[in-house]
Amino acid sequence: MKYYDKLIFELSKEGRKGYSLPKNQFPQSPELPLQLRRASALPLPEVSEPDVVRHYNNLSQMNFGVDTGFYPLGSCTMKYNPKINEEMAALPGFNALHPLQDAPAAEKVLAHMNDLLSAITGMHKFTFAPCAGAHGELTGLMIMRSYHIGRGDLGRTKVIVPDSAHGTNPASAAVCGLEVVQVKSLENGRIDIEALKPLLDSSVAGIMMTNPNTLGLFETEIKTIAKLVHEAGGLLYYDGANMNPLMGVVRPGNMGFDIMHLNLHKTFSTPHGGGGPGSGPVGVAKHLEHCLDGLKVSGFHGNFGVILRAYAYILSIGRENLRKVGQYSVLSANYIKESLKDLYKLPIEGVCKHEFVFDGLLNDGAHDDVPGATTLDVAKRLLDYGFHAPTIYFPLLFHQAIMIEPTETESKETLDAFIAVMRQIAAEAAQNPELLHAAPHNAPISRPDETAAARNPILKWQDTLPA
Ligand SMILES: *Cc1c(COP(=O)(O)O)cnc(C)c1O
Repeated sequence: MKYYDKLIFELSKEGRKGYSLPKNQFPQSPELPLQLRRASALPLPEVSEPDVVRHYNNLSQMNFGVDTGFYPLGSCTMKYNPKINEEMAALPGFNALHPLQDAPAAEKVLAHMNDLLSAITGMHKFTFAPCAGAHGELTGLMIMRSYHIGRGDLGRTKVIVPDSAHGTNPASAAVCGLEVVQVKSLENGRIDIEALKPLLDSSVAGIMMTNPNTLGLFETEIKTIAKLVHEAGGLLYYDGANMNPLMGVVRPGNMGFDIMHLNLHKTFSTPHGGGGPGSGPVGVAKHLEHCLDGLKVSGFHGNFGVILRAYAYILSIGRENLRKVGQYSVLSANYIKESLKDLYKLPIEGVCKHEFVFDGLLNDGAHDDVPGATTLDVAKRLLDYGFHAPTIYFPLLFHQAIMIEPTETESKETLDAFIAVMRQIAAEAAQNPELLHAAPHNAPISRPDETAAARNPILKWQDTLPA
């Protein structure tokens, strides 16, 4: 541990100060009433200004971000966020706007953004109110429900969700008061159409899908699925969080989807993570346009700053390059997959889109009494080599899932460095799995109880930690 990684209270030295106040010029200080006065001094750290500056700068550097290193977090599209987007979002003409003032430039951005997203997705009209992907799902399902109710079709209470779906899909359906029905996947990772058919009755409001699906695989039978669902009177909802590989190549509207959201904070290069501001605009096909009227899911136009970043991204990258985004993201994912599949278990062979899933190590080094290296061990060991870990244990279809999404913004050199480290880790696992069980060895903290850390976070210094 580095000296300045210490807690600020551990740096404290009695009597040391980081400030100096001018001498009191007043003859008499107003006295505080006795009952308001503190009986004993507050136990604050006593440190110099350099100590404070170093402490907080060191803390800030413990954070891993896409601006500090490769971040192949599957399902999250952690692409580089060009700084020009930030500059545009910081323009005073936008960022100092009051939501109730006339704002012709902002109106123009929204109108143009509506046209751009409609062109990219094949939808007819967007609402920008939803503030995240999951918020967009909920909004889309509210639209789905109001469409059926508006036609007097009151018995449609079920939503079909594939077993590979992102967890927010069934959660959003449940929050919307709809019943979730799961449809299983085939061995090849695609929806089992024969299992879907018997589910399609007059109680079905619709199906929620993402394509490519959460395994990074294209649902090649999407046209057939759309036909079956529509014939049963249901609608198709597209979870557009996986839109990155498709831009400029395929459009959800042409696949037969009626409603969708986009994750501007994934596909369109605006920073995300840690629950920060997002934007999940929802687009609808023409026959659902009326369902956007009177819809109110957030204040005003949602997170306008995020929309503006995405707008700057689309305009600066241009039509031709937008198409290349998807192609390069697919190429990068397939390059890593093919470079590692002799050492990591690839459950489903074939070309993937922008991400793919391994099912742990082929040789985990287990012998006699020593348990083999798990996916968690591999992820922890990656931190020692300065890479962010991929998504692990998701999707739930494989017990040792490692989900890798490199995105298009990484150079071949970075991809090669990652591949070399993953190969090194596989060799370490085969020879000495205990090295991996104890990883990370170089991080400020090693293996916290992640559930307890999330459920009962300790957000302020305490001189005694709870047992
Ligand atoms: C990220 C993601 C979501 C949820 O988006 P949020 O903005 O985090 O709410 C939904 N579906 C898929 C496939 C995702 O990757």
